[in-house]
Amino acid sequence: MSEEPMNNKIVKNDRTEDRVQTCVFCNIISANGSNILEPRSNEFVVIKDLKPVATHHFLVLSHKHIASSKSLQPCEQDRNLIESMVTAAKQILLNNGCDLNDTRMGFHWPPFYSIGHMHLHVISPISSMSAFNRYVVFNPSISYIFVDVDYIKKRIGCKEKKETEDPSTV
Ligand SMILES: [Zn+2]
Ligand SMILES: [Zn+2]
Repeated sequence: MSEEPMNNKIVKNDRTEDRVQTCVFCNIISANGSNILEPRSNEFVVIKDLKPVATHHFLVLSHKHIASSKSLQPCEQDRNLIESMVTAAKQILLNNGCDLNDTRMGFHWPPFYSIGHMHLHVISPISSMSAFNRYVVFNPSISYIFVDVDYIKKRIGCKEKKETEDPSTV
């Protein structure tokens, strides 16, 4: 009499705790394909925007599914996340020979975004943007559509740092 092998029902732990199956960005992160650029970490992922609005247009995605920059909380974890996403953004710009002072960086502000997974837009040079993108869609002066990094940092209570960046406007 042979013993039935134990039927180990392998319940795949698909680790979806931070993933949303219908989310384009979650799927990109899970697939971990060649479209993921350096630098990378367990906090963020950098990709090229599929519809670039300038010569260089990158997206820094939070690794975790966070609906938007508006959902960020004034806690150490979220402050560190933003700091590391911005550091990554600067790194990818430098890797591509971009001028950090000729760069537009920021987040969509709800409800004006197409994908509900927080991502930092990193766009350079500003001069290569169309007027519409430059003055409307990605203009932090219109803060109900797009907000810059400083706005988010202030909102969640990041410590002020002396920035060497020229805060020149468009
Ligand atoms: Zn997602
Ligand atoms: Zn976007």
